[in-house]
Amino acid sequence: MEITDIQTIPLAHSVPEGQGLGDARGFGTDRGTTLVRLETDDGTVGWGEAFAPGPIATATVEELFADAVVGMDPFAVESLAETAYTDPYHFGGDVFVQSAVSAIDVACWDIIGKSVGRPVHRLLGGTHCEELTPYASTMYFTEVDRPIDEPIREAVAAGFSAAKIKIGSGLEADVERVRTAREILGDDADLMVDMNGNYRPHQALRSARAIAEYDVAWIEEPVPPENESGYRELREKVDVPIAAGEAHYGRFAFKRLIDDRAVDIVQPNLGRCGGLSEARLIAGMASTENVAVRPHVWNSAVGMAAAIQFAASVSNYPHTRHVPEPMLLEFDRSENPLRSELLETPFDPSGGTIDVPQEPGLGIEIDRDALERYRAD
Ligand SMILES: [Mg+2]
Repeated sequence: MEITDIQTIPLAHSVPEGQGLGDARGFGTDRGTTLVRLETDDGTVGWGEAFAPGPIATATVEELFADAVVGMDPFAVESLAETAYTDPYHFGGDVFVQSAVSAIDVACWDIIGKSVGRPVHRLLGGTHCEELTPYASTMYFTEVDRPIDEPIREAVAAGFSAAKIKIGSGLEADVERVRTAREILGDDADLMVDMNGNYRPHQALRSARAIAEYDVAWIEEPVPPENESGYRELREKVDVPIAAGEAHYGRFAFKRLIDDRAVDIVQPNLGRCGGLSEARLIAGMASTENVAVRPHVWNSAVGMAAAIQFAASVSNYPHTRHVPEPMLLEFDRSENPLRSELLETPFDPSGGTIDVPQEPGLGIEIDRDALERYRAD
């Protein structure tokens, strides 16, 4: 079997000016990403996502990978990492290189699954897994004024039993947001917070200590992604698990996070970390330091499908049934048709669970009309 065609398909969606949403660092109105479609000589099609802007992802795929991919056996998927780290020598850890690799790698796994008739999570060595627990990614900072409790009430009404909220805009606001979310979620729900790297370590420390009484399951990116000494300092001083990884790309960056336990939880994004092959390697490294893995998902439905298959494959080591700590899957609650309209059967988190597709490969069918609707080239 060999790959005969590679296409990049940039997608974009915007909300009107003034209605942006975001985090403590700022607002955005545009959502853009890039799909990669591979086709083999027997007509099998595989899909992957480079979670990166269309023009950059397209140029990276075409300049650095297209020649190596056409003619490649998709079962030789791990050779892509060699291409990434050695062929564009010096560029391997770059976000756009790893995004391009992610898309091609995931598309290869989709093809492998379809050709052997198994879902990707089984190919990655996972046990049979039918559903995951989604958590609502919500309480974004918004340009339009709205009551802070509204989005978390909506998430609970939609069936979510866990949530992650944006904080990081100052001590008092952090406490108010966390207290509000905890009141509405109830005492038993998992509640996570995301500071989006907006603090220096001493500021993050003050906030972390102030919100600890609300039983926070993890603090995400309390300091900027590059500030690994800051992560280590907080891990030693704070009694709440520290998470990071959405802004780390490739095995070497994750190794630095995992070594010496800079964080308690790593969060690879399947559209940027290097794909399923790299994510599996990251999960293996994480297990050696007893670090948990919870994928970051702010992607289109294709990247979400990859994250679901990956999450379903991750071992629960070292837990037994006596210490339940379910895999939590991020489910972005913001308006994004690239997530909600791109599949014939969209992922549905209502009811507090999300089904893991059992069909071969990623187990998804692309809605061709939606693809054309949001195409940005
Ligand atoms: Mg985050």
